[in-house]
Amino acid sequence: MPLLEIRDLHVSVEDQEILRGVDLTIEAGEVHAIMGPNGAGKSTLANLLSGREGYEATRGQVLYRGKDLLDRTPEQRARDGLFLAFQYPVEIPGVTNSYFMKASLNALRGARGEPELDAFDFLTLVKQKMKQLDFDESFLNRSVNEGFSGGEKKRNEILQMALLDPRLAVLDETDSGLDIDALRIVADGVRALGREDRAVLAITHYHRLLEYLVPDHVHVLVGGRIARSGDRGLALELEERGYGWLEQEGAA
Ligand code: ADP
Ligand code: MG
Repeated sequence: MPLLEIRDLHVSVEDQEILRGVDLTIEAGEVHAIMGPNGAGKSTLANLLSGREGYEATRGQVLYRGKDLLDRTPEQRARDGLFLAFQYPVEIPGVTNSYFMKASLNALRGARGEPELDAFDFLTLVKQKMKQLDFDESFLNRSVNEGFSGGEKKRNEILQMALLDPRLAVLDETDSGLDIDALRIVADGVRALGREDRAVLAITHYHRLLEYLVPDHVHVLVGGRIARSGDRGLALELEERGYGWLEQEGAA
């Protein structure tokens, strides 16, 4: 059974159809990349998968581990191992990073029927993950994302991902504004998920990430549809040719 199966998905935002028939199948163990020009609907897909309000599936189906995903609440989706990293991570002034991550992790563990981690066990775990990601421990006591640079926010999201240990991680534009070191950390973080029963959907318009995060499958979203799928050779072709030729094919 695929981990994620999207069939003929149409999504509207404010009564405007943005996704117009997306098909995508992700098997456990795979890394998929979705590329595409600005406004193609990439973030719309990520938002729909996360269960964000305002994004309505008007046609088609999304199956996650064989079950309808769209009738699940965002909390249920998270509990079932879906993790979304957003293009614009929220800042939460007054709440420390450490508190936020411990609360998130324990909420998940509680929902899964696992015992909560106490402060000591949590700190041991989070410090181990921070070390792997080369992320300074001082970030534990700072307010969530407040005053973080773009790269630090992304690193923080990858840390959250590493802690929550998702089955399917959807990373939207995780590379925007990232320097090479940060790109490596994102790729390392994804790799550290361990691949056999996990999968990653990385949404990006930036080819560089794909040098580090080698995808098994690359899809190009143009005008609300997947105009083409291929292996990583497709990403290289897009780097040379841009998206214009696919936009023209789509319009024809
Ligand atoms: P991408 O991530 O590929 O750049 P988006 O999914 O963000 O594309 O946007 C696709 C289209 O949907 C754009 O035309 C955008 O203006 C529109 N859109 C997305 N989210 C909203 C929203 N919350 N309200 C209104 N329009 C939106
Ligand atoms: Mg986007």
